[in-house]
Amino acid sequence: MGKEDKRMCKWSTEKIKKDFGDYSEAIGDASHACMKCGRVAGSKEQLCKPEKRK
Ligand SMILES: [Zn+2]
Repeated sequence: MGKEDKRMCKWSTEKIKKDFGDYSEAIGDASHACMKCGRVAGSKEQLCKPEKRK
């Protein structure tokens, strides 16, 4: 994994789906991530396609 790959702004939604374990680690305290737009939140109601972190 290169230095650029660590910046979450660069993550595509495809990458988020593929490496969801890594993404879950990177989002800190947020409990859910959106599989459609890549945003993260503390509750699934705030996301359009929520996925609970692993
Ligand atoms: Zn979304």
